[in-house]
Amino acid sequence: MGMNIFVALNMEQFNLSFSDTKEAFRHKSDAQLKNSKLIFSIFKFPFLVNYGPQLTSFALKIKLPVKGLIKKTIFGQFCGGETIDQCDNTVQKLWKSGVGAILDYSVEGDDTESNFDSNLNEILETIQKAKGKDYYPFCVFKPTGIGRFALLEKIDANINLDEIELAEFYRFKNRFEAICESAADNKVRLFVDAEESWIQNIIDTTCNEMMEKYNREDTYIFNTVQMYRLNRIPFIIQCIEEAKVKGYKVGFKLVRGAYLEKEAERAIRLKYANPIHQSKADCDKDYDDSVKLCFENRDIVSICAGTHNEASSKLLARLMYENKIEKNDNRFWFAQLFGMSDNISFNLSAKGYNVAKYVPYGPIKSVLPYLGRRAKENSSMSGQMGRELSMILQELKRRKQERSHK
Ligand SMILES: Cc1cc2nc3c(=O)[nH]c(=O)nc-3n(C[C@H](O)[C@H](O)[C@H](O)COP(=O)(O)OP(=O)(O)OC[C@H]3O[C@@H](n4cnc5c(N)ncnc54)[C@H](O)[C@@H]3O)c2cc1C
Repeated sequence: MGMNIFVALNMEQFNLSFSDTKEAFRHKSDAQLKNSKLIFSIFKFPFLVNYGPQLTSFALKIKLPVKGLIKKTIFGQFCGGETIDQCDNTVQKLWKSGVGAILDYSVEGDDTESNFDSNLNEILETIQKAKGKDYYPFCVFKPTGIGRFALLEKIDANINLDEIELAEFYRFKNRFEAICESAADNKVRLFVDAEESWIQNIIDTTCNEMMEKYNREDTYIFNTVQMYRLNRIPFIIQCIEEAKVKGYKVGFKLVRGAYLEKEAERAIRLKYANPIHQSKADCDKDYDDSVKLCFENRDIVSICAGTHNEASSKLLARLMYENKIEKNDNRFWFAQLFGMSDNISFNLSAKGYNVAKYVPYGPIKSVLPYLGRRAKENSSMSGQMGRELSMILQELKRRKQERSHK
């Protein structure tokens, strides 16, 4: 009984709301907010969402003067700039509210070695840029940006590589290690993004090797775990056990997963069981269980809740509160994508939690696939789009009322 009263009192004091739109959009002018309203309203039109990227790409190819318009609208909503330095303004604006930036080179180029080498150099540059700066709490890279997808797929399927492929694989691993080594040498934390399940084994294995090598004193390397996949809880347990035995620290970015349709489609086509949970509720349960599991193992595990889900974000904050963990404890982070869920990012940061946003950047024509995915995500997830738009409308209304009272 006494315990229940204590818990009830404790809960009462835990006060975290994501509905303060003034806080959420403090960094946006009226004009920028109206621009966001326009963009999220456009996502209601399936034709524009489905064909927008191709139409834009074509318009750019035939040199129609659309670049300025794109830059001011959808690109400006979801990207920081075309180069690292062009992101400076965005990064400083976020940091004014205590939100860090994760520079994400979002170019999806061709599968050539020269492209992989140039991506490697770009990622190393983001690490140099982040070095010693609190407003860049993490760097990030996508493994398929530095190695050929089909090669990784072959390794995952345990198909023997010939000599040429083996050499190619070593080049991939060397790039992977060069990034991790540079991150650790410069004391910059690094996320390795997760991709399709049929290339993920080799990425997980490499991540674990890198953690064993570079996470001895502090946690620099973070693997990403997609909780929409079945059996990821046992995977996390196994990683933690291995780290305990070998004496290193573990970093996880916990996400739900971005390739839901692709995973289902491949499983049907190749006639194997879909490796994804059968329902959103199962996925949500595993996500929240993974947060709890990592939290319980916080003596060696650091986590970043990479999510736009309010309940999951609140769960981590609540666990920290109930266990008297400082809000700015460096083992616990929250992250969202630039241009989305500002209500979560800025309300968390206003309360003193560690928050960062992915800030994608790259030449406009090369980030079109990324923008296309954001458009699709915000149109198919009716809940998400509805939430973004209604928050924006609410804030515009609030500002209008505030002005009329002055
Ligand atoms: C900072 C950050 C980093 C990210 N990094 C990665 C990454 O490295 N790799 C990656 O794959 N994704 C990544 N994502 C995207 C992420 O995986 C999700 O797609 C996205 O964030 C939406 O999930 P949510 O937790 O925000 O919220 P919610 O809106 O609560 O959940 C939507 C997600 O639930 C899952 N889902 C929906 N329906 C079902 C269903 N019927 N059955 C099972 N699951 C279902 C899907 O994963 C869907 O994306 C990242 C997201 C963020 C914010």
